[in-house]
Amino acid sequence: MLRCSWCMKKFKNAKPVYGLNVKFVEEKKISDSDGRMVHIHLESRNTSVPMIVPGENSEADKQGMDGIFPICSEKCGDKMGEALSKEISTIQTVNKTIKL
Ligand SMILES: [Zn+2]
Repeated sequence: MLRCSWCMKKFKNAKPVYGLNVKFVEEKKISDSDGRMVHIHLESRNTSVPMIVPGENSEADKQGMDGIFPICSEKCGDKMGEALSKEISTIQTVNKTIKL
């Protein structure tokens, strides 16, 4: 079951789901031909959070998204964006939330 990467709440089917997309530093990039769910350790939060790796040649991949963090609300997106911008050894850029 997919959870919000900030507050860890489970998504209910009917609720809108946002994604915070990031670009990794080159040597930390994760690629997967089919796309999958991984857990990324965040040093600033000392915990692992869920992240979606887009499949190669998927729309997200073509747009330069290396990872998408599932987010339940814009508020969580703001907080997550702040936390991710501190992960400079892993994450190069944090982009706006997108509606999934
Ligand atoms: Zn949340």
